[in-house]
Amino acid sequence: MTEATLIDHRRILVTGGAGFIGSALVRHLIGETQAEVLNLDKLTYAGNLASLKDVADDPRYRFVQADICNGEAVAAAIEDFRPDAIMHLAAESHVDRSIDGPAQFIQTNIVGTFEMLQAATGYWKGLEGAEKESFRFHHISTDEVYGALGDEGYFTESTAYDPRSPYSASKAGSDHLVSAWHHTHGLPTIITNCSNNYGPYHFPEKLIPLVIIRAVGGEELPVYGDGSNVRDWLFVDDHARALTLAMDRGTPGETYMIGGHSERTNLQVVHGICDVLDDLSPPADGASYREQITFVSDRPGHDFRYAIDPSKIERDLGWKPAENFESGLRRTVQWYLDNRDWWEDILSGGYRAERVGIGG
Ligand code: NAD
Repeated sequence: MTEATLIDHRRILVTGGAGFIGSALVRHLIGETQAEVLNLDKLTYAGNLASLKDVADDPRYRFVQADICNGEAVAAAIEDFRPDAIMHLAAESHVDRSIDGPAQFIQTNIVGTFEMLQAATGYWKGLEGAEKESFRFHHISTDEVYGALGDEGYFTESTAYDPRSPYSASKAGSDHLVSAWHHTHGLPTIITNCSNNYGPYHFPEKLIPLVIIRAVGGEELPVYGDGSNVRDWLFVDDHARALTLAMDRGTPGETYMIGGHSERTNLQVVHGICDVLDDLSPPADGASYREQITFVSDRPGHDFRYAIDPSKIERDLGWKPAENFESGLRRTVQWYLDNRDWWEDILSGGYRAERVGIGG
């Protein structure tokens, strides 16, 4: 551990802390700051306590298994822990699953956020003085609420909402609820909207881990459409630092866009993974992993391009990503090669790295 970053908010309730970004955030808060953390997570298919093994025994870390849709359980956890800030990440997060089964997305992302807001507001209203003044409710959201871009332009904090998938529509709904609770009740909220994250502990159905795992398994590497869709990649540990800054130093009522200045087409991403793997774990026959690539029919309603202008958080809060896409991708591929037991446990738990969300 490096010297702890001093943050004003010491008691932080994180929802969804057993997920991909949530676990990176919890590892960051425990490893790099002096915060005490309560992780509230239902442990759905996406929640995995193995991602928290490095911090599980730390006296500043606690876990409670609860559903954010259960208002009473949430209120009890808040009353018991008495947080200085709530960082709300729990969500159904996989776009493809939202096409096949949207009901859970409406329930968790919209109803669950509503229950979080109600419980947080009740608690916050009972605080006094400096505690009430400094309390924050930080809602973690996505750039997908802004719809799709063409070849040019960037999403900024003033871009109009235009969600296209059941997932992004449910996240847009939750953002509007958070904003309404700020304007109506004065709840000190922060909203952050980020681009596609990648890095260690990413669930194996998402593009980057899926491709790494299938590549080393000698399987075909599926690319949607012609692979020209563009995403703006953000290394998950850079995101965890940005979230901590936004929660601790952001201005209530404000939104901050978080992006890693790393726009790549999906095909470039898959090529990048193959090239790193060719270097770190060359196929026995001297071939390239690129030969395993196949093109499959596109996802319905597949947004063409997302790209973020993160200048507000860079200017106002002094955040900068530490990784560029090449360095972050290399670290990620190396992590999946070194941590087979983490992802093999998930695969053997019934999940298969197969395609979902073709709308059939
Ligand atoms: P994830 O799917 O990996 O993890 C979600 C976590 O929430 C899991 O631990 C799960 O058990 C928990 N959870 C789900 N439903 C719950 C419920 N009803 N009650 C309590 N816990 C519940 O998600 P992630 O990729 O870590 O994303 C975290 C947040 O960041 C989400 O709000 C997501 O919308 C947002 N986001 C993610 C990305 C990305 O690239 N992954 C990009 C932009 C925004």
